[in-house]
Formats: sequence, structure tokens, C-alpha cells
Amino acid sequence: MELDPRRPTVRNPPENFTGDVWLDPVAGPRDEGWTLMANIVRFGPGARTAWHSHPRGQTLYVLEGVAWVETRAGERQEVGAGRTVWCPPGEEHWHGATPDSFMAHLALNDSGGDPASAAVWGEHVTDEEYLAGAEPVS
Ligand code: MN
Repeated sequence: MELDPRRPTVRNPPENFTGDVWLDPVAGPRDEGWTLMANIVRFGPGARTAWHSHPRGQTLYVLEGVAWVETRAGERQEVGAGRTVWCPPGEEHWHGATPDSFMAHLALNDSGGDPASAAVWGEHVTDEEYLAGAEPVS
């Protein structure tokens, strides 16, 4: 058994995120053949990822708050704590908090041996895209 060293919380890079987004690594590349990446990601109100996709897909498990997850095709899911969202390989999407509350999710990715290849990043989600089709949050 090994107790991992405490890894510092890091702020996610503004190139790929809008608003305040913080990441705590849970598990990452370890021994040869271990490719699971697990991160807890915390979004401030209104914060979200940029458009992106995952070559090997992504599992999101909402821990707290309400997540918005939307595909490029305009399919938006509003997902509460305790629910899991599967983003298939190559499907462009974004995820984030609602405008008026925090959201935290566990993000599970397969690094495929190269953590940098777990996501392919595109442009930011504009305020118009973010708010489009959203029901007023009560
Ligand atoms: Mn994603």
C-alpha cells in the first residue's frame, strides 16, 4: 500500500476554460499499462470548459451542484449530483456549472499512455452559446 503525496490544487488554464475552474488530481499515470486519469474539477458559477473532445471518451460523475453538458449538435443535459455522463470518443462537447452555483465533477479519462492526448481543445464557449436554450435557473 502506498499513500500518495498530497498534490496541490491547480487552476485550470484560461486557454481551455472560462471562469474559475480548479483541479485536484486523484489518480494518474503510474505503472506501465495504467492509463486511468481521475480528476476532481470544481467550477465556479458560470464557469465552463472550452469546446473539446476526448479521443478515448470521458466519464463525468457529478459530485455537487448541477452540471450542464452540451454537444456540438446542441443536445444539452442538466445533470445533478450522483449522475454519470458518458461522452463518447470524438464527440465535441463542453461541461460546466450553471450561472448561479458551483459544480464539482469527477472526470475519468483514458490517457492512452499520453496524458496530453486525453483531450483535443477547440475554441471557448461564448456567453451566447452558454446561455442558449437554458431555462432560467430557479
Ligand atoms: Mn470533456
